[in-house]
Amino acid sequence: LRNLVLVLGDQLDLEAAAFDGFDAAHDAVWMAEVAEESTHVWSSKPRSVMFLAAMRHFAQALRAAGRPLHPMRLDDPTNQGSLAAQLQADIERLRPARLVMTAPGDWRVLQAIKDVAQAHGLPLEIREDRHFYGSVREFAAHARGRKSLRMEYFYREMRKRHGVLMQGEQPEGGQWNFDADNREAFGAAGPGSVPPRAVFEPDAMTREVIALVEARLADHPGRLDDFAWPVSREQALVALQRFVTERLPLFGRYQDAMWPGEPWLHHAHLSAALNLKLLNPREVVDAAVAAYRAGAAPLASVEGFVRQILGWREYVRGIYWTRMPGYAELNTLDAQEDLPAWYWTGATDMACLRDAIGQTLQHGYAHHIQRLMVTGLFALMYGVQPQQVHAWYLAVYVDAVEWVELPNTLGMSQYADGGLMASKPYVATGKYIQRMSPYCKGCRYDPAQRSGDAACPFTTLYWDFLMKHEAALAGNPRMALQVKNVARLNDGQKQAIRERASAIRRGEVR
Ligand code: FAD
Ligand code: SF4
Repeated sequence: LRNLVLVLGDQLDLEAAAFDGFDAAHDAVWMAEVAEESTHVWSSKPRSVMFLAAMRHFAQALRAAGRPLHPMRLDDPTNQGSLAAQLQADIERLRPARLVMTAPGDWRVLQAIKDVAQAHGLPLEIREDRHFYGSVREFAAHARGRKSLRMEYFYREMRKRHGVLMQGEQPEGGQWNFDADNREAFGAAGPGSVPPRAVFEPDAMTREVIALVEARLADHPGRLDDFAWPVSREQALVALQRFVTERLPLFGRYQDAMWPGEPWLHHAHLSAALNLKLLNPREVVDAAVAAYRAGAAPLASVEGFVRQILGWREYVRGIYWTRMPGYAELNTLDAQEDLPAWYWTGATDMACLRDAIGQTLQHGYAHHIQRLMVTGLFALMYGVQPQQVHAWYLAVYVDAVEWVELPNTLGMSQYADGGLMASKPYVATGKYIQRMSPYCKGCRYDPAQRSGDAACPFTTLYWDFLMKHEAALAGNPRMALQVKNVARLNDGQKQAIRERASAIRRGEVR
């Protein structure tokens, strides 16, 4: 065997660089389903099924393309349980001259594979991941010499370099950013009839994986009774088409809005397909831009969507690969609380959190504002140790891969990197959630109260957070106004907030 081409669960792309020069007469593909990838964090059932089902469909595509494959199934009695141990065993069996792979999305996995290659004295060729618009090297060059990093400048560079939504040197419509048009709530009438999500009924192969996960990961969080994610490239292309025609027109306008019992709204639901490489970001961006050019979607929506993929998605990848491994350990605010146990069950009286966690366990999905301004916001103000927050986000979502999850969680949501990802901690009272949704109407807590029995825990913890970090935050001009309000509280008010915050942290209010 000449080259053994390693393919991981988030590298399911027949066009990946690892296959350049692939010769079926001399090379073979290696793919392994191992328990460790579902247990190094307590991976939810929907997430495990997403990866395993997509891997099995990709194995089928490899066979159809005539590429010899050495797969290892999760339930094979000879399964070694971890990527490293399995690779080791297969190297001894297959005796390849060389290992080849596309750059992986997880620092831990990269180290493990490098170690195995080294232990066997085998050359390991790691190829550029062409899936992304830019390379990590380009990001590092962008970051070099800048005192602070801001996504906006990176995004403008990307628009120009890749000629996306440009008119010559100028941004389409004369503006780089339509965020101001993209912050609407639904209003009393609600979201109206939201297009139904694209449903992909599990086929026999996926049903087999569902049974396997139910049997092997029985005690893991999450439910599988309506697993309906796209798990093959063909399905992912249908999901893309459905998004562009049905949801994109209102995507921008209601990007930040929330509604009880409505997990899907006008979002794309394409993150898992993108992160597993079933879809290429260029085809996704091109499809959205084409809808704008055809007059089928407004510029504000399309720009808002392009910003998420050409901007944020590429930006967080750059942050991850230029800052790891130290990044994962950061804890600038010295937060030390344990994650409340109800994050794994949704058993809380807080209506907004109950809904966001409930749908997360049901579908492995929540949209960005739910992740940032409900589950993330609460953990930040509660003071949960950021590594525990990270382990939760990496476990529960079908789209969770460390390169994208970690900077979003540790940086954007928990401010554990001290402001690299976000220029200030995203903190708010329950009134933010009240403005963006009707959750508070159906909740036993009151977002206007910061202490006392009816006080909304978000509101209490907001004031508690500002009091606790007053000195550190006072120097941040973007926080000055918020911090100043702490001075208006008298000692009695401060004491009442602290008492209520302690009760929340003791689990007496939840
Ligand atoms: P849409 O809202 O429709 O957005 C379109 C696409 O843009 C997404 O599919 C995604 O590929 C990309 N995108 C949007 N926001 C971001 C972002 N902040 N960073 C990177 N890409 C983005 N996204 C993941 O893909 N995996 C994760 O593990 C993940 N963890 C997160 C954890 C936290 C705490 C937060 C605040 C955000 C996280 N995100 C993560 C980003 C974002 O919430 C999801 O990409 C989005 O909700 C996926 O749903 P969608 O496909 O309907 O996205
Ligand atoms: Fe959430 Fe507070 Fe509103 Fe209840 S009152 S739904 S806890 S923000």
